[in-house]
Amino acid sequence: MRITLAKSAGFCFGVKRALDIALKTSLLKNKVYMLGDIVHNEDVVKRIENAGIKKVKHLRKTKGAIMLIRAHGASMNIFQKASKLGYKIVDATCPMVKEIHKIAKEMENKNYKIIVIGDKNHDEVRGIIGQLKKRAIVIDTPAKIPLNKIKEIKKACILVQSTQNLDKALKTVAILKKYIPDLIFFNTICKPTRTKQEEIKAMPLENDSMIIIGSKNSANTKRLYEISRSLNKKTWWVNSKRDIKNSWFKNTRSIGITAGASTPQDVIEDILNYIPSLPSTQRPQKGEY
Ligand code: SF4
Repeated sequence: MRITLAKSAGFCFGVKRALDIALKTSLLKNKVYMLGDIVHNEDVVKRIENAGIKKVKHLRKTKGAIMLIRAHGASMNIFQKASKLGYKIVDATCPMVKEIHKIAKEMENKNYKIIVIGDKNHDEVRGIIGQLKKRAIVIDTPAKIPLNKIKEIKKACILVQSTQNLDKALKTVAILKKYIPDLIFFNTICKPTRTKQEEIKAMPLENDSMIIIGSKNSANTKRLYEISRSLNKKTWWVNSKRDIKNSWFKNTRSIGITAGASTPQDVIEDILNYIPSLPSTQRPQKGEY
């Protein structure tokens, strides 16, 4: 039985960094608040809560509490509102998301209409468009391009949410190119996401089964699962070792494992240790005598 773990499995650099900043900040005397979960993973959220960081929905007046900005970033409006209400801000926005903010602002100053390819309701996308003076256009799928608006644009700059699927984004870019005469495209999908996408296109074809580890509310884990499942029907999405069934690995000679960007390392290691202990992975497999 061969078990291969994807190089990119688990926390990306930006999430690791945000978590480190959060835990260091929790050691300060001030109360620490966050708008929303640090990442979409129940174990990590619990760890953050246990460290004393509170998740809130709305900002209230304070004297010196800390507002922690998550890896996804936030709009200028949130920064300004938090400062006005008396929060000290600790900004854990991923540097790669910051880079997207910088490009968006620079290109807007050069009079380019900003188009963002991404999930309309995702915090990262809200944070990007929330840096701008003018309203940006957000496109989540090639099928939903607002052609009436697009046809009127002469000059535009396309940015992509850092975790988007490159192939899907390129389809949108190809359509926009037909309508907008001066179009600049920045592929702002981050390096960890690109590596993850490359691996998930190869691993399901190189292994008999695939295990995708991550929370059911993690969008990037869902994306990994969908790609893997389309290439290999023996793909399973698990949140912890408790979800794994012995019967999955009968007559299996190789298992590929990957994990979403918000899955903690200890959950991955737990599963790596658990699979070889299952009876179906210990018996001699078909053709192995
Ligand atoms: S997915 Fe990419 S952009 Fe987002 S936090 Fe991770 S490294 Fe940063």
